[in-house]
Amino acid sequence: MDYQAYFTDALDTLRDQGNYRVFADLERRLGDFPKAEWRGAEGTRDVTIWCSNDYLGMGQHPDVLAAMHGALDRCGAGAGGTRNISGTTHDHVALEAELADLHGKEAALLFTSGYVSNWASLGTLAAKIPGCVVLSDALNHASMIEGIRHSKAERIIWKHNDLEDLEAYLKALPLERPKLIAFESVYSMDGDIAPIGAICDLAEKYNALTYLDEVHAVGMYGPRGAGVAERDGVMDRVDILQGTLGKAFGVVGGYIAASSEICDFVRSFASGFIFTTALPPAVAAGAVASIKHLKQSRTEREGQKDRVAQLRARLDAIGIPHIPNPSHIIPVMVGDPVKCKWISDRLLAEHGIYIQPINYPTVPKGTERLRITPSPVHTAEDMDRLVGALETLWAECKLARLPMAAQ
Ligand SMILES: *Cc1c(COP(=O)(O)O)cnc(C)c1O
Repeated sequence: MDYQAYFTDALDTLRDQGNYRVFADLERRLGDFPKAEWRGAEGTRDVTIWCSNDYLGMGQHPDVLAAMHGALDRCGAGAGGTRNISGTTHDHVALEAELADLHGKEAALLFTSGYVSNWASLGTLAAKIPGCVVLSDALNHASMIEGIRHSKAERIIWKHNDLEDLEAYLKALPLERPKLIAFESVYSMDGDIAPIGAICDLAEKYNALTYLDEVHAVGMYGPRGAGVAERDGVMDRVDILQGTLGKAFGVVGGYIAASSEICDFVRSFASGFIFTTALPPAVAAGAVASIKHLKQSRTEREGQKDRVAQLRARLDAIGIPHIPNPSHIIPVMVGDPVKCKWISDRLLAEHGIYIQPINYPTVPKGTERLRITPSPVHTAEDMDRLVGALETLWAECKLARLPMAAQ
């Protein structure tokens, strides 16, 4: 076998299909985020990031930085081991207590990322609970899908956010058979939100456990920033809440929060928890500071809501189509992979605006989009520049506008 030729061909195919990913080389500027330096083919230039998942700018919050510097100076760089073999530091213990408190659960369990927490927790629970069948929302994240697949448990995929479809499947299963309903609160690409309470009603009626990915909601929704389940007053009804420390909390890491028994079970059986080095203590300390801050401060959440509403109104005023969802994610619909990439390239090169194009297979063909995430650290001037640039490029690209703005 000619290995090199195989790899080259596979990559060429990806390029031909328009699915080849190009990473922007960015350097976020501390204190000045969402501004960053971008190193492109023609040198370095200043850009404004409009697609970050550091939704609230916590990645540069003084409390978070002070906690991280403090821990680094106190304990050094790495944890030095797996959680089992010398890697459980006091900062990890404090973070798990903070997370359990945030979600009103008995316990929490920390992982190296949100991806790993989903993969390891779902993989372990579904594999170990005897005869478990997993009922998975059709738009669940890759990390959940991989975990469920890895478990080899029977898997049923129900129509996205469709309670009738979910109930039909639940009803058809024996009441006594163990069931795990896996879903998300805020879906990343469309920004729609699951009916969490109604799903918990069904789970109770049909004797199922619930597993909820709140990755795009933690820090963002609810009076203490615990997520949509907190906002909806149903946090106690969800068995396993999963989140990330890498998006609104601005650091890195993932976790589940649940009963002591469930956390202890996953801790004891999940390979993806056991056999990997613990997060650096400085990361854990930074996450604690971020969670503590967002528990008592609503300023960031309110600032963000305000920016999101502003941008939606500005897009409506010039007829640029976006999905009218109830969340903080603004998917601006282009509906063509080549134009989507072209707009994104022009935004970066000509307007100093960085928004990564979202094409197939991340979203279905024909729904290619720019996923815009306004944050409280975007200024009015940033917004003027973004709206002006989109208006220009929309015209150049001959993309349809909504009737309201058509002349
Ligand atoms: C980003 C994401 C994850 C993974 O979280 P990381 O901390 O980035 O690994 C899990 N679920 C959803 C829905 C996500 O969007």
